[in-house]
Amino acid sequence: MSFKSKLAIIGGSRSYDLLRENKLGEEVESKIVETPFGQSAPIHFFQDDSIEYLFMSRHGEERYSTAAPFVNYRANIWGLKELGVERIISWSGPGIINDRYRVGEIAIPSDLIDETKNRLNTFFEKRGLGFIRQSEPFCPIIREALNGSLANLGINHRKEGVYLCTEGPRLETPAEITKYKIIGGDLVGMTLIPEVFLARELEICYASICYLTNYAEGVRDRRYKGGKLFEGIQDEEEHAAVEAALCNIPRIIKEAISILNDIDRDCLCKDAMLRYKKNGVIDNNWRDWIKG
Ligand SMILES: [Zn+2]
Repeated sequence: MSFKSKLAIIGGSRSYDLLRENKLGEEVESKIVETPFGQSAPIHFFQDDSIEYLFMSRHGEERYSTAAPFVNYRANIWGLKELGVERIISWSGPGIINDRYRVGEIAIPSDLIDETKNRLNTFFEKRGLGFIRQSEPFCPIIREALNGSLANLGINHRKEGVYLCTEGPRLETPAEITKYKIIGGDLVGMTLIPEVFLARELEICYASICYLTNYAEGVRDRRYKGGKLFEGIQDEEEHAAVEAALCNIPRIIKEAISILNDIDRDCLCKDAMLRYKKNGVIDNNWRDWIKG
């Protein structure tokens, strides 16, 4: 198999089906990578005459079988690095804290707040490494490509936003959402952290597409309805808007990949560990960076 792509997609629930249904390349191979942190999730190679990328489903292959706190983020990011990945586009469906955003909109987050509690968020447990500046936690070049893709396709979207990551798997209380709003969160989800920071530790570019699924608790007055969509947090009209947004994601990705194919990796992400290399603490053999 001749496979040159160094770009991976990490998708949320239903992403595997969406890519297959939308014929975003044919699946030509699948691998599980053994890493120092356990096995990665299956990594699928998609390819046809017009597109080529690797794909990983974050929450399991067929359904939501692994909730966000239990994803082996370190094995997943390490596994992608092992296969030569230099760029990651992820997608997920967060809720809305800032009610200027609308359910069914697409947003390209520009900053993060970490409210997770129990996650292993570094590769460098036994090293004095990882003091990495986060002036731009997402890759500016991939963000620009995603915003460019959405503009080219004529899809209204939000070019930026602060994604606040909670621990989960439970949803948030109204008081928590009030707090998150005060501290500057626009969107609330459970998946981007530590994925984004782990990618940076291995000098991989990372940015994300968010399709906004619901107003977070207390942002709108929604009575609890047992067994309904998100127990009543989402209404039928919003559900249709979310489905439409989700179905747009494969073509947004396709256009973004085509834009990125013509742009060099001239960004800060690839030099995240340069200071340590210059100091002689580590060399370019990234597999040794975790060894004390
Ligand atoms: Zn980058």
